[in-house]
Amino acid sequence: MREFRQQFPFFDTSTPSIYFDNAATTQKPQCVIDAIEHANIQQSANVHRSSYQLAASVTDAYEAARNNVAALINAPSARNIFWSKGATESLNLIAHGLGELCLAEHAMWQGDEIIILTSEHHANILPWQQLASKLSHFKSLRITPVSPDFNGNYDYAVLRAAITNNTAIVAVAHVSNALGCVHPVAAITQWAHQHNALCIVDGTQAIAHIPVDVQALHCDAYVGSSHKMFGPTGVGFGYATHALLDALPPYQVGGEMIEYVSFDEVRFQSYPLKFEAGTPNISGVLGMGMAANFVLQHQAMIIQSEHVLMQYLLGQLTVLNDELAVTTEIGLASTNNIIIIIGAQNPERISLCSFVLNGISHYDVLRLLDKDNIALRVGHHCAMPLMQHLGIDGTIRVSLCAYNTDTEIDGFIAALRSAIKRLVSSDDVIANSRAFDTSSVAFSASTPIGDQFAALQGYDVVFRQIMLSSKACPLLSEQYHTADYHVAGCEVDVWLGQFAGQFYGFANSKIIKGLLAILLEKANTLTPSQRTRFDFTEYLAQLGVSHHLSQSRVDGLSRVIARLSA
Ligand code: PLP
Repeated sequence: MREFRQQFPFFDTSTPSIYFDNAATTQKPQCVIDAIEHANIQQSANVHRSSYQLAASVTDAYEAARNNVAALINAPSARNIFWSKGATESLNLIAHGLGELCLAEHAMWQGDEIIILTSEHHANILPWQQLASKLSHFKSLRITPVSPDFNGNYDYAVLRAAITNNTAIVAVAHVSNALGCVHPVAAITQWAHQHNALCIVDGTQAIAHIPVDVQALHCDAYVGSSHKMFGPTGVGFGYATHALLDALPPYQVGGEMIEYVSFDEVRFQSYPLKFEAGTPNISGVLGMGMAANFVLQHQAMIIQSEHVLMQYLLGQLTVLNDELAVTTEIGLASTNNIIIIIGAQNPERISLCSFVLNGISHYDVLRLLDKDNIALRVGHHCAMPLMQHLGIDGTIRVSLCAYNTDTEIDGFIAALRSAIKRLVSSDDVIANSRAFDTSSVAFSASTPIGDQFAALQGYDVVFRQIMLSSKACPLLSEQYHTADYHVAGCEVDVWLGQFAGQFYGFANSKIIKGLLAILLEKANTLTPSQRTRFDFTEYLAQLGVSHHLSQSRVDGLSRVIARLSA
C-alpha cells in the first residue's frame, strides 16, 4: 500500500495534510502525469485527420486509450466507447439522443416515465428533467424518483415495483456519491429490460473502486469521468450497446464526425466518432487511457485496501460516538448519538461515508477541519433532492482512496473530536475549551458586537468571538425560513428578512450566524442611503474576520451584503 501511495506526487507536498475528498476528484499517479506531459510535448498533433507519421501515431495512441477504457469496464469492443468532457456531458449526450428517438417514435423508446433514484447526482437528474420539459409538447413524460428511507437506506423492492410497462428509462448511479452505496445494477437492468425499458448507469463513483463489467451488468449505457479514477479533468467517456449507439443521433456537429458534407447532403460517421465533433481533449484522453490501465493493474489491491480503511474509519467513528455520548463535560446528553451515518444499512458500500452531527452544523466543522488541513466535502454533494428527502441541509462526506492511511484516519478523528468539542463548548462554557487559549474572549451584551473584535488577535480567539456573537444575531423566526427570505448562493442555508426597518437573519451554522450578527448589527444602525454606500466587505476585513470565510462563503455572504446594500 505504501508503494501505491508513493506513486502519487501529491503526497510529497504537505497541503492539505489529509485528503479525504476522493469522490470529488482523485489524485493523479506519476504515470498519468507523465502520459499527459508526454502527450503535450511529444504527441502534439491532431487525431483522425492527417496521415503523416506523427499524426498517425497520435491517432493510434488515442485509439489505444479507448481500448484501455473498454478493457477496464469489459465493453465488447472499443467502438462501444465514446469520449466526452466527463460523466455530465455523457449523460447529457445520451438524454438528448434518447429525446430525439422519442420524437422519432423509435422502437427503442417505449413508455412515458423515467425512473431515477432520489440520491442521484444532479448530473443524472437534470438531463432527464430537461428532456421531459423539452418533449412536453409531444409527450407527457413523468420523472419518478424512488427514495431510500429517511435514514438513506434503500429497499430495492420499491424500485422493482416502480418499474412497469410505462417505464421508458431507468437511470441510476452504480454507486451513490452522497451515500456510498452500490446499487444492484445487474438486477435493476434485468427489471428494466423485463418491461422493455432502457437502463442507463452513471458509473462515475464506481470505476475506481469496484470491478465494472458492463456485459455482466447488461446495461444499455454506462458513463464515467476520468478525474474520479486517477486521470485528468475535462475528459470522460460513455459506453453504450451497439444498438443504442447506432440509434442515437449526434449530440454536436462539426469537424471529424462527418463522412461527407456538401451544401445538399451530410453523412455522419458511424459511432463512436459521430459523437466526437471537433478536436477532442487529446492529452486528456491519453492520460485517461493510462489511468484506466493503472486502475486495472491495481484493482485487487485497491478494493482490499479500501475495504480495510473503511472498516477502520467506521470503527473509529463508533468509538468517537461512544466517547462523546458519555462525555458530559461537553454538555451532550448521554443518550445522544452525535455522529449519525447516513445510509449505514445499505447492503454494499464503497469507502465513502456520509454523516451528520446531531445539533452541529457541518459547515462549522468544515471550517475547523480545514484549518487542520483536512480536505473533505460537506454540503449536499450535488444531491439536493436527497437532502430534501432526508430533511437535512447536507452531510460531512469522507471519501477514502487506497492511498489513504490509518494514520490519516486517526488524524481526522482527532481533529473531528476536537472540532465537535469546540463547537459544543462554544455554547457558553468557555472553561471547557481548554485546548485553545481563549482567555481573552468574552461576550458583552452591552458593547456593540463589532467593537468586541477590536483588540482580538489570532485565529482561535477571533473564531471564539464569532461563535459568541452568534447568540446576538437578531433571529428571523422560523415561519420566515421560506424561499422568499432564502439567500441563494451561500454554502449553508441563510435566511434574511427586514421588518420595520430592521434586518433579521438565520443560519444553522454558528459561524455564519456570528457573521450575520456582525453585519446585521451594523446594517441596523444605518439609514437606507448610508447602507447603500457602506462597504460591508471592508468592514469584515477591518474586524479581522475575513479569514474565517472560505471563498465560497465570501461569495455567499456577498449575496447577504448585496441584500443589505440594496
Ligand atoms: N455522477 C456522479 C455520481 C458524480 O459523483 C459526479 C461528480 O461528482 C458526476 C456524475 C459528475 O461528474 P463530472 O463533474 O466529472 O461530469
